[in-house]
Amino acid sequence: MDSDRCIMVVGGHAADAEIMGGAAVLKHVRAGWRAVLVHATLGEKGHPKLSAEEYAAIKEKEARRAAEILGAECLMLPYRDGELPVSEDAQWDIADAIRQYRPTVILTHWKGSFHRDHANTHTNVLASLFFAGLRAFQRQHPAHHPSAVYFAENWEDMEGFRPELYLDVSDVFDRYLEAIHAYSLFRGEVVSFRYEQWYEGASRMRGAEAGFDRAVALMRPESYYGVRKPVELLGE
Ligand SMILES: [Zn+2]
Repeated sequence: MDSDRCIMVVGGHAADAEIMGGAAVLKHVRAGWRAVLVHATLGEKGHPKLSAEEYAAIKEKEARRAAEILGAECLMLPYRDGELPVSEDAQWDIADAIRQYRPTVILTHWKGSFHRDHANTHTNVLASLFFAGLRAFQRQHPAHHPSAVYFAENWEDMEGFRPELYLDVSDVFDRYLEAIHAYSLFRGEVVSFRYEQWYEGASRMRGAEAGFDRAVALMRPESYYGVRKPVELLGE
């Protein structure tokens, strides 16, 4: 067990963290890590029939149930669907969550998204690392800097997505499906997009690329702390 370690997934809408990071969360929870899902918004405007208020109440319950199945905690930030700003407030909200939960690893959206809340979540998460990690900022919880940040594969964020790390999720995939089914969205009851088919297929494709039955692919930031490499001469 490794309960000092924690995986955090930050998603633009409740359901994003689970669909793109749920299998990775399960993998680490089974290895004894703590896990936390951070939802920037509830994604409450995405229902063709229900009002935003009605769907928000459902999404919140679904998010809590999905987190329970994944063995994760969940945290809802106070932003509205479609209106997530790139702002210091949002960056501090994420930074305070990082200080509180002290994640070893953070997964979030890749920036190449057609959804503005996803792209803004990406920007806010990267900017929040500065607020989270600088000790000179006095907050409720002490400064913390995660060891790594990765971008998870999401069907809405595929512009320029480049798979780099492959995580074998073959042994947790059934439980992952159970967790995402906590959402009516992923049971096919809200929109016609075939979420389960896409993510099931992606896990097979990434699995084939890596030599596993099923895998999730992750991308690394281009310039992140820890990639500095001193050399005597170039080409070595
Ligand atoms: Zn989303």
